[in-house]
This record gives sequence, C-alpha cells and structure tokens, in this order.
Amino acid sequence: MSALPLGSELPVVTDTFGRPLKSLRLSVTDRCNLRCKYCMPEEEYTWLPRETLLSFEEMSALTGFFTELGVDKVRLTGGEPLLRRNLPTLIRLLRQNPRIKDLALTTNGVLLAEQAQAFYDAGLHRVTVSLDTLRPDRFQALTRRDTFRQVIEGIEAVLRIGFKGLKLDTVAMRGYNDDELVDLIEYGKRVHAEVRFIEYMDVGGATDWSMDKVFSRDAILHTLSQRYGRIEPIIEESSAPAQRFLLPDGTTFGIIASTTTPFCATCDRSRLTADGLWYLCLYAKDGIDLRQPLRAGASQDEIKSRILAGWRARKDRGAEERKELEQFGVREKLIEVTKLREDPHLEMHARGG
Ligand code: SAM
Ligand code: SF4
Ligand code: SF4
Repeated sequence: MSALPLGSELPVVTDTFGRPLKSLRLSVTDRCNLRCKYCMPEEEYTWLPRETLLSFEEMSALTGFFTELGVDKVRLTGGEPLLRRNLPTLIRLLRQNPRIKDLALTTNGVLLAEQAQAFYDAGLHRVTVSLDTLRPDRFQALTRRDTFRQVIEGIEAVLRIGFKGLKLDTVAMRGYNDDELVDLIEYGKRVHAEVRFIEYMDVGGATDWSMDKVFSRDAILHTLSQRYGRIEPIIEESSAPAQRFLLPDGTTFGIIASTTTPFCATCDRSRLTADGLWYLCLYAKDGIDLRQPLRAGASQDEIKSRILAGWRARKDRGAEERKELEQFGVREKLIEVTKLREDPHLEMHARGG
C-alpha cells in the first residue's frame, strides 16, 4: 500500500453503511478568540498540551495518507484556525497535493482582514465565515468579545481580494437571532455570499443547549417565506450537509438541519484534531490516535492501514441517534462540563465544526 502514482485509480473506501471516505476537516488549533454561546459558553477551558499539537509537516503528511484513500475535500477549522501562526505555510503544503480538489477554511472572521490576501496567494480555494448577527451589541452578547467590526472587515477583504464561493454560516437560535434571518439573507446578497443557517446542535461543548432554543429548519423556512413568498428546494445529488433553497428573486441559501433532520446516511466527513486524533463522527466518544504512530516512525502503510480499518468499521450516525432519544423525552445536552474538562477532545472547538 505504498504511495500510489498520481492518476492511478483510487480505491473507494466505504464504511459499514457504504459511505465513502471523502471529506476531512483539519482542526489546526483548539484555541479561540471568541466564546460563542453555542460552542464555548464556559469561563474556563482545558487546552490540548502544546507539545502534542501536530506540526504543519505532520498535518500535511497525515492528510496525504487520507487523500490516497479517497479524501479530496479538506477544510481547515478549529478552534479559530487563524490563531495558528503562519497558516499560509500549511495551505501551500496542502496545495502541493494534487489529490485535494477543494481546500476551504472556516473562520470566525476576526483576524481575516489581515490574513485573507496571504491565504489567497497561498492557493486557498474557498472561505466560510461564521456570522450569527449583524448587530454589534448582540455579537458581543453572543461571543463575549467586541470584535464585530473586524468580522465585517474580514468579509469585505475576502470580497475585494476576489475569492469565489464565499459562504456565511449562521447558527439560528430561538430568542437570540431568529429575528435576523431576513437581514442576514439581504446582507449575503450584498457581499455575494450564500448564507447557510445551521440548527443549534447538542454537540460536546454546547453546555447551554436545550431543544427549546433550536430554531428548526421548518421555522427558518416559515420565517423566510413570510418575507419572500414561495421558497423552492433545490434538488441536487450531494453529500454536502446543507439542503439548498431558492427564493423567488433567484437568491439561494442553505439550511443545515442536523438537529431535526439528520443526514448521517450520506455523511462522508471525518475530523482530525490539532493533536492528531481522528474522529469519525462529530458525536463520537473516542478518536483514533494517528499522532502516536506517526511520531513513532510507523510506515505509510501502517498508518494507511489504521485509517482504512477505522473507516471500514465506521458505524457512526451520531445525530440520528440523538434524534431517536426524543421519542423517550430524554434529549438534553450531550456532555457535562466536568467530563469536558477531563477530555477536551470531546469539545466541538477541539474537533472542528
Ligand atoms: N472558529 C471557527 C468558526 O467559528 O467559524 C471554526 C470552528 S467552529 C467550531 C465551526 C462551526 O461550528 C461554526 O460555524 C459554528 O457556528 C459551528 N458550531 C459550533 N457549535 C455549534 C453548535 N452547538 N451548533 C451548531 N453549530 C455549531
Ligand atoms: Fe465560536 Fe468558532 Fe470559537 Fe466555537 S470555535 S467559540 S464557533 S468562533
Ligand atoms: Fe456525520 Fe456524525 Fe454528523 Fe451524522 S452526526 S452527519 S455521522 S458527523
């Protein structure tokens, strides 16, 4: 199983449900400069030990093993990925891998204005900015930081530089920002970005989660139809998490309805934490350690075999299992704070969204 020559047919590696290994989210740091209510609502966090964090060379090597097994989409995430110094160096390294067809970044946008040009020059394909509100005071309440202006400047920089395919991701929360959905769509039109509304998920780290704060896909569609009229679903074959819709004026938007309408059946995504643990599902309790064999000098074949065996045994359908709990009336937050402190890998901000 040594390195395959470029152009040779790649194996289609599938899990127990026939889902292919396709998309990898690389978390480059667990640190963050915001404290979003749905992700990091606590005062104190346990961080991954610095010496365990993968170097860019290690990330690139591991990504190379994944791409030889079928991964062709890579998304850089975190924590806040822009806190990792010299990120363009990683982008350049990854761009040397011709099997990666789509290299994207998810960021909260705070440090984007100063770094976007370097990302573009390094060859990053696409940027997604998380933006939950257009009101500075609300931004501060939702993130506990006063950096709304910087986020807007970051979005403007992405536009100016000429990135294509900008997306804005909004976690829709009942009672927090559900009155801004139309404003966000209108803002998206102005900056040529597709807005994607994400249902509030009960992932690890969402210690404030409760079902009554979830603003569901149906509620989102209802709210938007009151303003725009008829909304048409866009029918497309895709493993992408967002279902896309069309407004009468031609504007498109997406909804990621992980909480009320999970899409585990087509999920081809997995996640590598900044310290090299590989998680096969956002809700998985344990990850597969790839740092240890890499640092111990394991061969390419050994590490690829570990990845192959992990994916072939994959049975995860975390969001569907969470949904099933509703029939017993026991759907509450996923993990207690004390457990999260013992194992920070359980946190969404360590796993990457
Ligand atoms: N810090 C970057 C950012 O916020 O874009 C990247 C990492 S963040 C964990 C990735 C995505 O996860 C963000 O779009 C965020 O809104 C989403 N997210 C975090 N916690 C969530 C939750 N409880 N429910 C739904 N989405 C969540
Ligand atoms: Fe917010 Fe992203 Fe930071 Fe989580 S990781 S607190 S979603 S900015
Ligand atoms: Fe994929 Fe797990 Fe999310 Fe389901 S819950 S879509 S299996 S990551």
